[in-house]
Amino acid sequence: MSVELYDTLSRSIQTLAPVSGDTLRFYCCGPTVYGPAHIGNFRTFLIQDTLRRVLEVDGTPVKHVRNITDLDDKTIRQSQAEGKTLTNFTTYWTEKFHADCDALNMLRPSAEPSAVAHIPQQIALVEKLIEKGHAYATEDGSVYFRVGSFEDYGRLSRLKQRELKTQSENSAGELNDADEYDRESASDFALWKSRKPEDGDNFWNSPWGKGRPGWHLECSAMVDSAFGGETIDLHGGGIDLCFPHHENEIAQSECAHGHDFCKHWFHSAHLMVEGEKMSKSLGNLYTLDDLREKGFSPMVVRYTLIAGSYRQQLNFTFDGLHASQSALTKLERFAEALLTKTGEDSDSFNASYVTANAPDDFGRLAKAWDALRQNLNTAASLGAIFGVIGSNPAPSLDAGGARALLRAFGCLLYALGLELFTIEAKTIDAPDEVVALAQARWDAKQAKDWGKADQLRDALLAQGWVIKDGKDGFELELKS
Ligand code: AMP
Ligand code: ZN
Repeated sequence: MSVELYDTLSRSIQTLAPVSGDTLRFYCCGPTVYGPAHIGNFRTFLIQDTLRRVLEVDGTPVKHVRNITDLDDKTIRQSQAEGKTLTNFTTYWTEKFHADCDALNMLRPSAEPSAVAHIPQQIALVEKLIEKGHAYATEDGSVYFRVGSFEDYGRLSRLKQRELKTQSENSAGELNDADEYDRESASDFALWKSRKPEDGDNFWNSPWGKGRPGWHLECSAMVDSAFGGETIDLHGGGIDLCFPHHENEIAQSECAHGHDFCKHWFHSAHLMVEGEKMSKSLGNLYTLDDLREKGFSPMVVRYTLIAGSYRQQLNFTFDGLHASQSALTKLERFAEALLTKTGEDSDSFNASYVTANAPDDFGRLAKAWDALRQNLNTAASLGAIFGVIGSNPAPSLDAGGARALLRAFGCLLYALGLELFTIEAKTIDAPDEVVALAQARWDAKQAKDWGKADQLRDALLAQGWVIKDGKDGFELELKS
């Protein structure tokens, strides 16, 4: 069995396989770098990262390209408000984005092209579309895509012509400028926007005069550059991008090249916070730093954001974060119990077992692996893992059996991008009675009295203390 995924284009589950060659071509719309990414953005990026990991574990190499949107109304306005050049401003936020991605254990994409670095390619694409009759320039030096010239327009979102709304500039729904009066049709969208005074220094020369590309264009141009103009296998983004952004990418690319733009489309449902849509006004637009400040480690955030199935809206709550924290602790205990059987310590777990090297047989964890391959069902996969852990975190295995189970477990953790024993905790000295309990638990563990050791561990957890075992002893950390 290979990896299967729900494809928005065909509205069905499809097997993922490269259209040609061995490597799967996977493009994702990346962040708009005008501030820190929020946990909704990260939900989408983490789901994409997890899918890539599953494909790699399954033996399919992936070329994963995720762009940086460094040129749009938001980056321009915000850089101006802060008195910075666009490049200085977007470089800062791109670096912050990378730091957050690293903390969340996301694999770096194979390439991260940016819109500003692809102006000539975008201009060339517009020229091609004009040449083929799919675009037209207006008097003010803007260029629009002629939606009526592409019969298949609406294929992805399944919107009929009459339902097509006036094209918006971005996913936030900012409408086109009011002075775009000379468009042939209200559904035509901007490929090139003539220079406006409020753009300041952010303009480029083109055959139509000074201006800048429209937002939708960048992805078509960057897909061409990254994948040599060939049909790509998979394109991802949050569900809000399906229309108009992805519909417009298809129109631009297919009209320019005359062949399919992309085989499968991968959209993830939105993240809600405590049952509400995220918004600045509600004060629920959390960033990774916000959650770290509240004491949650990035691995707990990752767990929370990938634990729900990607096609369903995920309701982010602080209770959920706490539950993820104890779920991670349970996974750590399972690993520790098995490591004790193999005679290894937890320090070596991530280094020795958490790899993309899939075992031939996942053994007791086969269901958990199948769930990931069957439409990235992370919820079912985690459920199957906890089913195996059950009430017996140290199954009756010999060292060889424990090693085999650790290998399967490590591979699943790699696919989920979860690293154990990394939870950051506040270090303060534990009170004497807590240290005494922890010492009793350590002694029970040395005596292989697992039942007692677990009981004492739970008692410590109930008092808010987490035990971290090393080779020669334990450390106590305050549960965050
Ligand atoms: P942006 O930085 O606004 O360009 O968005 C980056 C990615 O985050 C896109 O794929 C969006 O669809 C996605 N996204 C935005 N808001 C949410 C949300 N609340 N939940 C999940 N994904 C989101
Ligand atoms: Zn895009």
